Amino acid sequence: MLTAEWQKKDDLLYLNIPVWEEEGVCAAFSSRYGGQSTAPYYSLNLGLHVGDQAETVISNRQRFLHALQLDLDNVVCCQQVHGNQVAVVDDRDRGLGAYTFSSALADYDAMITQSPGLVLMSFYADCIPMFFFDPRQRVIGLAHAGWKGTMSRIAAAMVLSLKSEFGTDPADIQVFIGPGIDKCCFQIKEDLKAKVQREFTAVHDIIKKDERGYFWDLKATNRKILLDEGILPRHISSSKLCTGCEARFFSYRREGGITGRMGAVLALRD
Ligand SMILES: [Zn+2]
Repeated sequence: MLTAEWQKKDDLLYLNIPVWEEEGVCAAFSSRYGGQSTAPYYSLNLGLHVGDQAETVISNRQRFLHALQLDLDNVVCCQQVHGNQVAVVDDRDRGLGAYTFSSALADYDAMITQSPGLVLMSFYADCIPMFFFDPRQRVIGLAHAGWKGTMSRIAAAMVLSLKSEFGTDPADIQVFIGPGIDKCCFQIKEDLKAKVQREFTAVHDIIKKDERGYFWDLKATNRKILLDEGILPRHISSSKLCTGCEARFFSYRREGGITGRMGAVLALRD
């Protein structure tokens, strides 16, 4: 099973996946600690689109990437529109979205690549990051799945894109579902609950009810989608960390919508 481990470098605190690092894949997820942004973005805000000072965000990004022995010049980002489109990226895309939000790939929420040295990066404050690695074809992919992306099955779109673009066999794909808002915190209203149940008719345990209302398990839903696409159960691991509960993370819900963003980073080391 894949596990993410906390790492500390100076005042930076982040998660990485040591088993993948041994295979030459850097997979990391930042906490809110170790940057220079002030409240409400305190302190390692990596999102350029949330109202923070751009130069501070860029400096935060450089600091995090430096700790991972990566370079912001090699980063590619997408604009994360809560859709399910997967971009195939390569060396020519280096730098898109690294220093400005407007240069990030519009209309996309996920990226796949076979290019060593290219750094896939996306941003989170409750949505679910999904890290994909096919060790046989040496392909990686990073997907942003909020509730809308989960509903539109971005996880399935990733598997389809990896198959069609790189000849990946789903049985080879390993997936790590990272920290995000969990079933303890992701309360939804009755109308969305009805939509989820219509969309995922065969799944009965993804919504729980208590006296407060309905709670949706996004990680379990994405896991189910991946299993339906032929990913092996032993190749899917989920972080137990909830961004809504865990003060080390930014949380859109907990902080009323005005907050920073964590970064997910995925790269084949060259
Ligand atoms: Zn929680």
